[in-house]
Amino acid sequence: MTIMTIIENTILKRTYLLNHGTRCPFCDAVEIIGHNGDFGVDATQSITCPSCGAKWIDVYKLDDIVVTHKPDNKPHPSVRDIMCQRIRESLYNQIEWIDNDLGILERKFEKLVPHLVDEAFSVAGISDKEQQEPWGK
Ligand SMILES: [Zn+2]
Repeated sequence: MTIMTIIENTILKRTYLLNHGTRCPFCDAVEIIGHNGDFGVDATQSITCPSCGAKWIDVYKLDDIVVTHKPDNKPHPSVRDIMCQRIRESLYNQIEWIDNDLGILERKFEKLVPHLVDEAFSVAGISDKEQQEPWGK
């Protein structure tokens, strides 16, 4: 890809995003057609412009949520649940810079984290009963 192509693509994308995807980035037509979406990890939708024949794919990223119903009985995480969660987060933060397969790391952490938590509780002398108590009480 030449520098000019990269610049052109960047300008096309910026213009399209600034228009909130309402106009063809190539011919500026407002009559663009959205086809069936694919809502996997990345939500995508094929778009075509009947005026100039351009085709592209809109890529949607999850940006926010609006809670429409809260469960009546909120699950209350135990001391142990929170410890596992905190250690997992801390490990992820440490390895953030490694370009690696996150799926493999996640599976490794699933096995590793409970052992680390066992060790931490053992060193601190916290009983099984205390570990299962609700967090924050
Ligand atoms: Zn067009």
